[in-house]
Amino acid sequence: MTNEVKIPTEHPRAKSLKHRKRLVEFFDKGVVAQAGLIAHGRGEAFDYLLGEKTANFAIRALEAAAATLLMSEYPVISVNGNTAALVATDIVRLARITEAKIEVNLFYRSTKREQAIEKVLREAGATKVLGVGEDASAEIDEIGSERRRVDPKGILIADVVLVPLEDGDRSEALVNMGKKVIAIDLNPLSRTAQLATITIVDNIVRAMPALTKIVDKLSVESKERLAEITSRFDNGKILSDAISLIRRRLSTLAKSGTHLSFVEMNNR
Ligand code: ATP
Repeated sequence: MTNEVKIPTEHPRAKSLKHRKRLVEFFDKGVVAQAGLIAHGRGEAFDYLLGEKTANFAIRALEAAAATLLMSEYPVISVNGNTAALVATDIVRLARITEAKIEVNLFYRSTKREQAIEKVLREAGATKVLGVGEDASAEIDEIGSERRRVDPKGILIADVVLVPLEDGDRSEALVNMGKKVIAIDLNPLSRTAQLATITIVDNIVRAMPALTKIVDKLSVESKERLAEITSRFDNGKILSDAISLIRRRLSTLAKSGTHLSFVEMNNR
């Protein structure tokens, strides 16, 4: 039903509606899980509070993430249904310029869904997709869910794992295994955001293309310059800045009780 609705480009929330429509379409195709739709709603709520823009702290985290990816020996991008639905092309582009592997890793694992995600990634240009079916033959002991299954040629041996949209338990397990975890998560309070090595508090639809651009820009820099960027990075400060932005925005809005210009007009 929703898929048949045409979104008017002049609609004030056209972008957000377009992403919702896409997720519903990919839910129907078996790519996105039911819980993925709920997770997106939670993300949207935080995006609203953050002002739906890439903030300065997200740019600092993107730079640290780009430098970390460029210095890594064996980077892997972990992909779930929502990321495949929203940013498959960006994932493939980023994997190409960082020489990262792409691995499907799902909380609600089923071979059918893994294959559906692999198809989306291949259509976006991926030549190799790890973690599908029997390929995910290794296990991370500390995790209870199906996400403990990983590809022995991917996440298991990675030094850096980019996890756009992750669950807290797995971030913690990956960090405990000595891996650097780069998370993209709109909720600065989530366990993932709190436990990751680098947290990009931004929407994946903005963060993934931005990350590719910054990797491109930094790819000409020396190892020393990249190391300097990562050594200066403080994830605690990033999270604190994200929470402060929400507080500042809410304090300002709380003073007037309005935020949309037409409400202000009507209330005059
Ligand atoms: P955790 O286990 O990390 O404490 P959770 O249980 O809320 O968190 P999940 O449901 O596994 O997390 O994942 C959803 C997370 O992804 C939420 O924190 C949500 O804010 C975030 N999220 C959803 N959509 C997006 C998006 N488009 N861009 C960035 N983050 C998003």
